[in-house]
Amino acid sequence: MFKVCKFGGSSLADAGQVQKVCDIVLADPDRRVVVVSAPGKRHKTDNKVTDLLIDCGQQALAGASTEELLLEIVGRYSEIQRELNLDPRLIDDIEDDLRARLNNDRDNPGMFMDAMKAAGEDNSAKIVAAALRVRGATAIYASPATTGMLLSDEFGNAQLLPESYKNLHISLNAIKGIVVYPGFFGVTLSGAIATFPRGGSDITGSILAAALRADVYENFTDVSSVYPVDPRLVPSVTHGIDEMTYREMRELAYAGFGVFHDEAVFPAFRAGITIHICNTNDPNAPGTWVSPDRKPRADQPVVGIASDTGFVNVYIDKYMMNREVGFGLRLLNILAEENIPYEHMPSGIDNVSLVLRDRHFDEKTEARVLARIQAELKPDNTQVDRGYALVMVVGEGMQYTVGLTSRATRALADAGINIEMINQGASEISLMFGIKEADRSRAVQALYAEFFKAV
Ligand code: ASP
Repeated sequence: MFKVCKFGGSSLADAGQVQKVCDIVLADPDRRVVVVSAPGKRHKTDNKVTDLLIDCGQQALAGASTEELLLEIVGRYSEIQRELNLDPRLIDDIEDDLRARLNNDRDNPGMFMDAMKAAGEDNSAKIVAAALRVRGATAIYASPATTGMLLSDEFGNAQLLPESYKNLHISLNAIKGIVVYPGFFGVTLSGAIATFPRGGSDITGSILAAALRADVYENFTDVSSVYPVDPRLVPSVTHGIDEMTYREMRELAYAGFGVFHDEAVFPAFRAGITIHICNTNDPNAPGTWVSPDRKPRADQPVVGIASDTGFVNVYIDKYMMNREVGFGLRLLNILAEENIPYEHMPSGIDNVSLVLRDRHFDEKTEARVLARIQAELKPDNTQVDRGYALVMVVGEGMQYTVGLTSRATRALADAGINIEMINQGASEISLMFGIKEADRSRAVQALYAEFFKAV
């Protein structure tokens, strides 16, 4: 068995947490590669080291003093170093490293900022490797630059270059001992540091799991499992999801579930690797398994209920639309030319709706797009409604279950909620309802009561 495990920022926030990480890694010899985030918040009002680094980089770009922030960041690591009795020279190295990054060329601000941001994970990995060694393990810090984690030069939003898989496979397999690898960044072909989007250590973990063909990718965070519904909307939820498929997770994540970075799952998904979401503070809890396939329980066809706000519905009506060859193509062409992604496109005989995220469709864009629709498609009627929420009922078991839509619509009707739109994905693993944003919590509560009350 070969496991790649990744620890998030809250798992590395202070010495006590780093000690837990070491306990977990040392408890299982299969945990051979450890991916770490930068230290996160120690308490609610605390700062994440990544945020401090961003502030520090921005101060530098603005020509302001960075000394105070720099010392605060170094202080976060030295607190851990002292409490764990690690070599004090580590902290001198971290301070030198940060000063060197601050002295980098600032001509390309994106490149400068990425080198700053990456320092959080890079130094965290050095600390964790040292902490494991103090506990008697052979643990080696591995650098993305020397192990071939090659990324595109889209700073802050870099993409993996495909040759990285082979590089990482060869270089990491050659290391004897526990590999401690910093998440969140890699290097461009010209050697500059580039980061993934925020939260990108999950992506690193997933890439390493795929490159090393791990049996399991363990993702340690601060919850014992993923809940089937957002606890902020349904505070009484107690039961986590034991198991779900990648497809279910993707549908839930789409509608605002903070399970994972969608992008993070992709490398592990493509390699068919099972993910285990675990809790650093309760490592023996069963957690949530995410696998390529699962057999849904007959009595539980729904795995979760997700919802998100911030959608716009653009409604277009034209008599005999169905006979007009190329109508849809021309409509989508307008969106493509305006660089607007669409989320859904439910249609009738003479009408079609475009569901868009409102962050892609501000009032100015709306005016431009509607003028083009009017001029190029000559509709009878158009209407734009903002303030939509989408609620998704998700589950692999739905495709085998008769009457599920009627249960869902009945539950919404009983709660007095008007369904503005309904869409069953072609995969039949999700049922989507478009409703007014104001009805969102009540809709989610009603659907949760319907599908989970007996569980
Ligand atoms: N430290 C980075 C962030 O805060 C990446 C991560 O933690 O995954 O976004």
